[in-house]
Amino acid sequence: MSSPDGMPPLSAVIRAHDLAAKKELGQNFLLDLNLTSKIARMAGDLPGSDILEVGPGPGGLTRGLLMEGARRVVAVEKDRRCIAALEEVAAHYPGRLTVIEGDALQIDPLEHLTPPIRIAANLPYNVGTELLTRWLTPPSWPPFWTSMTLMFQKEVALRITAKVGDDHYGRLAILCQWRSDPRIVMHLPPEAFTPPPKVHSAVVHLKALAQPRFPADAKVLSRVVAQAFGQRRKMLRSSLKPLGDVEPLLEQVGIPPTARAEEIGLEAFCALARAVAARQT
Ligand code: SAM
Repeated sequence: MSSPDGMPPLSAVIRAHDLAAKKELGQNFLLDLNLTSKIARMAGDLPGSDILEVGPGPGGLTRGLLMEGARRVVAVEKDRRCIAALEEVAAHYPGRLTVIEGDALQIDPLEHLTPPIRIAANLPYNVGTELLTRWLTPPSWPPFWTSMTLMFQKEVALRITAKVGDDHYGRLAILCQWRSDPRIVMHLPPEAFTPPPKVHSAVVHLKALAQPRFPADAKVLSRVVAQAFGQRRKMLRSSLKPLGDVEPLLEQVGIPPTARAEEIGLEAFCALARAVAARQT
């Protein structure tokens, strides 16, 4: 029996290539092409974009992206066992899929991609958060990508999209919302994956802003936010002590020195970062 794209179903691909999921590679596969096509559509204008896919595995999301018309997909996969299965997908879509065997944390596939570039991935959660942080902190802004559509553990998705006052508000919310517009676009129960993970998942779509939401130096903002949330229960006047005498700066930008990090919004953190940077120069 074939699938909507005329290729064998993913369960047959997994059997034929002996791709039993490996826990150490965070392998929880999506086998329903209707679902992967739906995720692919969340990525935005596929026919007008090159897609960087990280961790294609047996190719469920890859096939969804290609079926939905992606101009070109460059897929980076660490598990050598998956490469032959992915090459079959490449042969089914001549000239539209480039498969690269490698560790996405080590290699830079940009030379294979032409802008506009969108990122799509269902990655192991630790690798996903590490790459998300790197993609949001490039040497200059705007970044090489237009949008990112990424699967995360639900808890991480809530941390990415949390607003001031929410339980999940913290460093990740500020990092993501300063230079992008993140939205949860889909929730997935464990049973959507094979094998099912222990936790619920969510797809987050992050659209790059042309420029940061509020002006600030990226390194100074990151340092201020790291100090503030490093001891989130403490008042800012003590948690920020390692940055020097910040009380006058807090007052200057209208933040009560007795406030705690979780009460301070992105705009105020940016104002504080500007004040800290101005004192340094
Ligand atoms: N995208 C497929 C899907 O949705 O069914 C597979 C998802 S599975 C959660 C994660 C995939 O990422 C696995 O195929 C795994 O081998 C791959 N992977 C894990 N670490 C990686 C890394 N550092 N670089 C590239 N791929 C990686």
